[in-house]
Amino acid sequence: MSNDCIFCKIISGDFGTEFVYENEYCVAFNDINPKAPVHILVVPKVHVASLNELEDKNLMGELLMAVKETAKKAGLSAYRVQINTGKEAGQEVFHLHLHILGNKKGNI
Ligand code: 5GP
Ligand code: ZN
Repeated sequence: MSNDCIFCKIISGDFGTEFVYENEYCVAFNDINPKAPVHILVVPKVHVASLNELEDKNLMGELLMAVKETAKKAGLSAYRVQINTGKEAGQEVFHLHLHILGNKKGNI
């Protein structure tokens, strides 16, 4: 938990954000500024600034399994997964997250 991290605050429930999926490792919620008809973020409960700071191999496995479950719940059979890493790559929030990008027809 990082006090000045917006995703840590969301995970704590500070903003009453609805979680579309949750398990012991992560939460998933809709992106506030969607770049696709379905745009969901899968976010680990532990604060890791970016993929470059990730040391727990098991956690990434859990996050990818959570992506699969979240996509299924959202009715997506086809989707892209994106991890922006570093400012120059477009990372804005420095708490690791996986973007799920899909459309309602599931053929993005
Ligand atoms: P990044 O550019 O760091 O890979 O992605 C950060 C994403 O978080 C962006 O797509 C942005 O729209 C989303 N985002 C930033 N702040 C909030 C927020 O307070 N709530 C939600 N739901 N999404 C946010
Ligand atoms: Zn955080």
